[in-house]
Amino acid sequence: MSHEYRHVLVAVDLTRDSHLVLERALPIAERNGATISIIHALEPLGFAYGGDIPMDVTTLQDQLDEHARTRLAEIADPSNIPRERQHIIVGMPDSEIHRFAEEHGVDLIVVGSHGRTGFALLLGSTSSGVLRGAKCDVLAVRVGQEGDDAEE
Ligand code: AMP
Repeated sequence: MSHEYRHVLVAVDLTRDSHLVLERALPIAERNGATISIIHALEPLGFAYGGDIPMDVTTLQDQLDEHARTRLAEIADPSNIPRERQHIIVGMPDSEIHRFAEEHGVDLIVVGSHGRTGFALLLGSTSSGVLRGAKCDVLAVRVGQEGDDAEE
């Protein structure tokens, strides 16, 4: 039985690894004639500060959102992923990725995975979280060792 993916979702943490993950996903989407979407989940500030600081964090949240959007465009624009398929979503990465996948008929999620040693550490925490609750296929792209200079 042949299986074609129709909608490939690439989850990126906006580090340099994102390029590797996207480069792996692109030909798969192309071969399948699939739509490709890219997503980054931004953790809400309220989570980090427990929501009890007497300060309006809306502006700061907006700035973080803007920064993430720009960074995502730098990653996705060169591969001709249209802006309307570049998604910044506020929330916990794994649950937001699952929600997006279910709502948009995604049948393949592509994430990065660090080559951590040890049985339980084969996948990064986000990638294993994505795999754990996924209702569709998940491809974990190996992106090098933990501790690599992955941040820009
Ligand atoms: P980590 O759990 O940090 O090892 O992340 C592994 C992979 O999970 C990354 O390569 C991305 O594919 C995905 N990921 C991590 N954080 C996010 C995020 N905030 N939004 C979307 N995907 C993410």
